[in-house]
Amino acid sequence: LVEITGVRKSFGHTEVLKGVSLTVEPGGVAVIVGPSGSGKSTLLRTINHLEKVDGGYIAIDGKLVGYEVRGDRLHELREKDILKQRTEIGMVFQNFNLFPHLTALENVAEAPVVAQGRSKEEARRRGLELLDRVGLKDRADAYPRQLSGGQQQRVAIARALALDPKILLFDEPTSALDPELVNEVLDVIRELATSGTTLIVVTHEMGFARDVADTVVFMDQGQIVEQGSPQEIFSNPQEPRTRSFFSKVL
Ligand code: ATP
Ligand code: MG
Repeated sequence: LVEITGVRKSFGHTEVLKGVSLTVEPGGVAVIVGPSGSGKSTLLRTINHLEKVDGGYIAIDGKLVGYEVRGDRLHELREKDILKQRTEIGMVFQNFNLFPHLTALENVAEAPVVAQGRSKEEARRRGLELLDRVGLKDRADAYPRQLSGGQQQRVAIARALALDPKILLFDEPTSALDPELVNEVLDVIRELATSGTTLIVVTHEMGFARDVADTVVFMDQGQIVEQGSPQEIFSNPQEPRTRSFFSKVL
């Protein structure tokens, strides 16, 4: 269970998150849409404490992200504990961010060894399973430069899954891909969604949002303007700003 409650975030004098609240149930899929600059990436980054919140809080399975309560005050966790917590919150970015000097399998098997103390052998075995799951078992020994963008992104997804995260965050996972490679990545995310992984996905792929989301969240200017089922948000939006946005993108 992901609970985002009244989250505020400013950069300098600009408040880019103005009290955002969102709950994602275990196994739920929330898809966040909205115009450029509305705060979608910033919100995702607060969920694994890549950005510190200025107000409000985020909890995953009842545990605060980035902070602990001592006495009657919130204290930021120590770096070591932040890194440990981050292993439970997988994140996949627009630009894959694979390690260029490691093979696909090494990319997937590295973190479980370094961050979770698993044996190399176990991490490799599990890494091969995950590459199989994203359809890339036969490319295990390829380096990122030898893979297409869609393949690289699928490796990045396998790498995120290798730490058995409680939740996976996707920030425009297909935006950097050539159009013909978009679906192979969306299909992998679809499979995760149907197999019960808790997902929060920022995307401009409205067809995907309609098919896969339990909840579609429309953000504008640092706020959630409206959220609901795909049916509610796409077919019967209540807010003028939501209607105006969809009239441009659909
Ligand atoms: P896009 O669809 O273009 O990715 P977004 O909805 O993800 O947009 P954010 O990247 O969250 O939007 O940015 C929200 C606002 O915060 C923007 O005005 C952006 O310029 C600003 N912003 C984001 N990160 C920083 C930063 N590190 N320092 C200063 N301003 C920032
Ligand atoms: Mg963004």
